[in-house]
Amino acid sequence: GSVMEKVLQRRSLRMRNMQRGWQESPDGNKMLEFRKSLPAFKEKERLLQAIARNQVVVISGETGCGKTTQLPQYILESEIESGRGAFCSIICTQPRRISALAVAERVATERGEPLGDSVGYKVRLEGVKGKNTHLLFCTSGILLRRLLSDRNLDGITHVFVDEIHERGMNEDFLLIVLKDLLPRRPDLRLILMSATLNAELFSSYFGGAPMIHIPGFTYPVRANFLEDVLEITGYKLTSFNQIDDYGQEKMWKTQKQLAPRKKKNQITALVEDAVEKSNFENYSPRARDSLACWAPDCIGFNLIEAVLCHICRKERPGAVLVFMTGWEDISCLRDQLKAHPLLGDPNRVLVLTCHGSMATSEQKLIFEKPPQNVRKIVLATNMAEASITINDVVFVVDCGKAKETTYDALNNTPCLLPSWISQASARQRRGRAGRVQPGECYHLYPRCVYEAFAEYQLPELLRTPLNSLCLQIKSLQVGSIAGFLSSALQPPESLAVQNAIQFLKMIGALDENENLTHLGKFLAILPVDPKLGKMLIMGTIFRCFDPVLTIVAGLSVRDPFLLPQDKKDLAGTAKSRFSAKDYSDHMALVRAYEGWKDAEREGSAYEYCWRNFLSAQTLQAIHSLRKQFIFILKDAGLLDADTATNNKLSYNQSLVRAVICSGLYPGISSVVNRETSMSFKTMDDGQVFLYANSVNARYQTIPYPWLVFSEKVKVNTVFIRDSTGVSDSIVILFGSALDCGDMAGHLKMLGGYIEFFMDPSLADCYIKLKEELDILLQK
Ligand code: ADP
Ligand code: MG
Repeated sequence: GSVMEKVLQRRSLRMRNMQRGWQESPDGNKMLEFRKSLPAFKEKERLLQAIARNQVVVISGETGCGKTTQLPQYILESEIESGRGAFCSIICTQPRRISALAVAERVATERGEPLGDSVGYKVRLEGVKGKNTHLLFCTSGILLRRLLSDRNLDGITHVFVDEIHERGMNEDFLLIVLKDLLPRRPDLRLILMSATLNAELFSSYFGGAPMIHIPGFTYPVRANFLEDVLEITGYKLTSFNQIDDYGQEKMWKTQKQLAPRKKKNQITALVEDAVEKSNFENYSPRARDSLACWAPDCIGFNLIEAVLCHICRKERPGAVLVFMTGWEDISCLRDQLKAHPLLGDPNRVLVLTCHGSMATSEQKLIFEKPPQNVRKIVLATNMAEASITINDVVFVVDCGKAKETTYDALNNTPCLLPSWISQASARQRRGRAGRVQPGECYHLYPRCVYEAFAEYQLPELLRTPLNSLCLQIKSLQVGSIAGFLSSALQPPESLAVQNAIQFLKMIGALDENENLTHLGKFLAILPVDPKLGKMLIMGTIFRCFDPVLTIVAGLSVRDPFLLPQDKKDLAGTAKSRFSAKDYSDHMALVRAYEGWKDAEREGSAYEYCWRNFLSAQTLQAIHSLRKQFIFILKDAGLLDADTATNNKLSYNQSLVRAVICSGLYPGISSVVNRETSMSFKTMDDGQVFLYANSVNARYQTIPYPWLVFSEKVKVNTVFIRDSTGVSDSIVILFGSALDCGDMAGHLKMLGGYIEFFMDPSLADCYIKLKEELDILLQK
């Protein structure tokens, strides 16, 4: 006790000397001057007092005013100054890994130290932290994980939860857990930071916690909407913009004319309505002609290119930030720009990318000054919206969309699709241009569309499948799921929660008492719907991982098989060529993907897609999702390097079928073959029909008693998409009506199944499986 106390006191003194030494040095002094110029500095004393006197404080202030880099640092500095530096331990969470690193580096620089000294960071798989680290920037996911094993956050003195205005699931989640923790830790300080003014919501959640607003400084930014952009650039929209963009001219044409106007998200419907009702009379003839061609989905790369050209040729110096929807789009545009005479010239233009999955070394480049007379262009996802600050941005190009996870409540299927951003996001994006001088923003959609945007985005908690969420809550060990969720900022419907719990029991992730099973613990780590997660895990166990990976990625993205209305038959025939009497849409997907990989290697991917009615963009998305899954599974210890590449059993069809069944069950229908027709019935005795593009719809009879399916869609009648024929024994053994709360027992039985019923060449696989079982049983 007291020896430790002495050590810490001595260390505190050393910290104070070092801090003073730095602040008095010329460099340190210059840095201090800069920091004093930030708006947060004027509020410093008020902030420190409020934090000292209240357990919870809510702070709002515009992006760039100094919340993230300054406030935790103020606490650290004042503790050090009062000789208590070694006694404090401050955590500040960030929604994304890139911002955790960027901010920690910045704060270390401001303190004249290397990273890992008093300031550190921690994100999944990476981090720098030393024994003298007293301020740690981490992702909100890391703090949640820490709470798993350290329920009282022992030793932590201050927790900052940053970017709460984004209403990310992890942040909303953290707030519930922390609110529960505060009474047990009266000395702990919680500081919530938000980039917008909606602080009341959070304040009242914490029983009227005091709010402090930091008045901001930003330069004005001119908003140019599409009509102005067309005027400025002289660009003419044609309704075929997207054609050249994706290099799929002919396909696009048919797709566009004929794409079934499926369940559209509400915002898109509003936007279309707004466009229809607008008269564009106030616009110049050129803009008016062009706008007449505008369709909500025709923001093209060529238009972005035209805007970038305009900036590089005609505008003053300053970096450009382009907001795009996701990594696929960013990399496509980057490739397109490479071929451009001006934008592809490295002596004049430096094109960088910024997205969630990039390497940390690559991230650093975006903050650096470009060489003289070179214009920096950063292609970014919406992560550059609030949490990271690229200082020299003067121009912003906003395509108006962001990838958002939504879910299809009917089928419990999450999807990650681009959708319209909110007005709040659009303003936030625009604001990024006014950091150093008056800026310019180019919104690539008409003003009337902006006006149709939702005011704020729906909290992630309300648009994420609860299946996965409930699983995570269980792994946090915070009591009953329903009780926990009812105390959220905006709780989801209780029926939705009940459905999720029911489902988790059914697939064997929870036992009768709502406790996590062994399987459930693994599923909690995987960022996919639990049924797909289960399929992945079974794929690794049964050594048919590669095809299963493709299926799961495909089901998480969307169907790559296109179905133009007037060419239904041709498209259906094309798809059935991938079926080879498998009676499986899932295996057709695998064959199509593998064919595409081969074609790509031979340089004929475009032709391949065109010939087979496949969407190259979707295949690309599946490809990148596959990589992400591999990464996560390896990280979780579920996959060794060997399994990822070695798939001798890939084409053991029964095995793949069995694994598909284990994931999709209870999505199953019986096949009733009559002389003239077939019909299908689900478990609840409902009549279902096959989706027209299913390979199984092309057969007169199906030689399997069951079809497992990934999705049930209600149109007029209920259709099932993507189905696979399976045998009775597969359903009996792999359908999880079995009590597989006992995963090990279940696996043992499956092992027996492999041994006795299947191909003797699987002996090899069985030995591996047995080893695996032994390990599982030891746990
Ligand atoms: P907030 O969290 O309020 O959005 P930050 O604390 O992130 O603001 O940033 C405050 C200021 O610090 C910014 O306006 C910028 O001038 C400066 N800054 C932040 N990060 C960096 C960096 N990596 N390099 C240089 N300056 C930075
Ligand atoms: Mg910030």
